[in-house]
Amino acid sequence: MSTEAAYQAQAESPLTVDRDLYGRFAETDGRTLVDSFEIPIRSGRAWEVPAGHVVRLRTVGGPQVGDLNIWNRHDPRERFWAARTRQLHAAHVTEFDRLWSTLPFLRPLATIISDTLKNYGVDSEGGRVHDLLGTRCDPYVNKMLVDVDFDYHCHSNLVRAIQPYRLTEFDVHDVINVFQCTGLNSDDQYFMKTCPAQPGDHFELFAEIDLLMALSTCPGGDLSLPMWGENAQDPVETCHPIGVDIYKLPEDALQGWAPPTRANYTGTHAINPVQWA
Ligand SMILES: [Zn+2]
Repeated sequence: MSTEAAYQAQAESPLTVDRDLYGRFAETDGRTLVDSFEIPIRSGRAWEVPAGHVVRLRTVGGPQVGDLNIWNRHDPRERFWAARTRQLHAAHVTEFDRLWSTLPFLRPLATIISDTLKNYGVDSEGGRVHDLLGTRCDPYVNKMLVDVDFDYHCHSNLVRAIQPYRLTEFDVHDVINVFQCTGLNSDDQYFMKTCPAQPGDHFELFAEIDLLMALSTCPGGDLSLPMWGENAQDPVETCHPIGVDIYKLPEDALQGWAPPTRANYTGTHAINPVQWA
């Protein structure tokens, strides 16, 4: 039995990016910084990214994981689909992987163009970075596990972040855990390790369509301390801000690129079924 990737394209497909073109997007010469801010510890913020712009997430002051949500700026029903991205690319993503949207849209919302942790690979315990296996921490699970109400989990930070855009808790979705090192142990259970990012590490996304993004600085900080279980402790000392820079690319850099269209399935779902004879 083969353990090759199940999801394989038969021909040229949007799964594979033109590395020359997207490599150019990662060049920093000629970029214009249009916005820059830091997200303080245990908080969240949302921001817009026009199509063709680049977002850099960077560690500031120390290792810190961030929980990122992404929507089509003009239609929040189209949003990041972590599970399918995991199948189309990998459970941990890096340069030239793409972050796909939900059905019935199914197009790359963003493409990863630069990742200073790309050489982390897989460590001796099976840990890898930029995690799609897990999702955001949330106050409901926390209450269930430790019977404490805590309002600054990533889920809540994202809820507050998107409120100015009239989005709610129901719009928060499974995240990409940027800078987060995770894996599955020998019992097939999810583990989290200390974030390997150092100050100045970054992760860059190219916006394929107009986007709304929101990021939470996880209250678990660098995840070096257990948040649940017998040895749980408050990891506030391990928390750091995350910096966000948004760049406009020079016009000529975008030549050869066009925003992706929605998947072109007819969308009928056999609601008027064919007779198979
Ligand atoms: Zn979190």
